[in-house]
Amino acid sequence: MPGFELFGAEERKEVNDVLETGILMRYGFDGPRKGIWKAQELEKAITEVFGCQYAHLTSSGTAALTTAMAALNIGAGDEVIMPSFTFVASFEAVLSVGAVPVLVDVDETLTLSPAAVKAAITSKTKCVMPVHMCGSMADLDALKTICTEHNLILLEDACQSIGGTYKGKALGTIGHAGTFSFDFVKTITCGEGGVVMTNSEEVWTKCDGYTDHGHDHKGVDRGADLHPFIGYNFRISELHAAVGLAQIRKLDTFLSLQRKHNKALRAYLETIPEVSFRKVPDEAGDSCSFLSWFLPTEALTKAVIAEMKEQGILAGNFYWYANNWHYISKWDHLKNATTLNKLSDVQQNALLKLKETSFAASDAVMSRCISTAISLLWTEEQIKEKGEKMVAVIKKVLTNATVNA
Ligand SMILES: *Cc1c(COP(=O)(O)O)cnc(C)c1O
Repeated sequence: MPGFELFGAEERKEVNDVLETGILMRYGFDGPRKGIWKAQELEKAITEVFGCQYAHLTSSGTAALTTAMAALNIGAGDEVIMPSFTFVASFEAVLSVGAVPVLVDVDETLTLSPAAVKAAITSKTKCVMPVHMCGSMADLDALKTICTEHNLILLEDACQSIGGTYKGKALGTIGHAGTFSFDFVKTITCGEGGVVMTNSEEVWTKCDGYTDHGHDHKGVDRGADLHPFIGYNFRISELHAAVGLAQIRKLDTFLSLQRKHNKALRAYLETIPEVSFRKVPDEAGDSCSFLSWFLPTEALTKAVIAEMKEQGILAGNFYWYANNWHYISKWDHLKNATTLNKLSDVQQNALLKLKETSFAASDAVMSRCISTAISLLWTEEQIKEKGEKMVAVIKKVLTNATVNA
């Protein structure tokens, strides 16, 4: 998954370009910056690499989602349908624009269940936000059909699936807008950063202003800019963009290593008939940043996790079901509507209702799922050792279960 594993001279060179001029801001200072425009250069590279018309960088992936929602006119009281399994940033962004997160079940794709989305549509629904978790994608054809039928916005949270594709198109470029995160643990990192991608000039123009206090960027200097609407500061700095520029040039290397290591590790787990794998709507498009696999029951999965911990090989294996950041079961702050400042009544009521909402279908999937993060640095020898140890743990747990049955 993480590009930080292959950080080096290329990143230092790009950052040094910026340090030499001392112009750390992406706008203005045309003379002293001596032609160095890292944020602009990275935006251009993003449109070329991922095949979209427009890209606008932000200070984080969360800021990218917030910006995209504002630019797509999602606001007070609008309902955004999103999955029960995602990073907390997804609902934070929804709440930040005054909208209401409507959480629904995931299926064995580990992403939005199209049937659950359909069932959740009301007269207030404005947007469907699939989250392409752990490197791979939602069933985008099914979701697109639902959105077209009901005239809804499709916003892709592709923060975790940089480099993944669906039927030949980059994840994040298929909906009305899509976002990546470039935080420290993502496939490409800027340290902190994010991007909104879109094929709509209007959406891009709104993102451009929203992330910079509403500036229209039409003035000859910043002081002469007009403010057609109220914005915020979600700007990326030139230093962060410089790191991303070096990283995006390495993306093909990251992806080919991920795919190779993922496949090699999977071959070990495939020898165990009781182990099954995440359903991937387009196998060829899996970015392979994680290998996500299932055991037949929750009890067996918990036993495997316990045994991996016991043997000191748990690092890099995620049991999201019991994880504080990624699954509804542990989001007490969301279910209790614990905020520092007052929410709107509509938001507050919707959140408090989550406590009584059943996510049994998601539980049935997530309680049996383990995701193994794929390192770019693994050697063949290390993959072999890892694979053999994981197989031994799983076999031991399966055998114990049979003996005790
Ligand atoms: C990382 C992440 C984000 C937010 O990114 P930040 O850059 O950390 O703000 C949003 N959604 C998902 C699914 C993520 O994994």
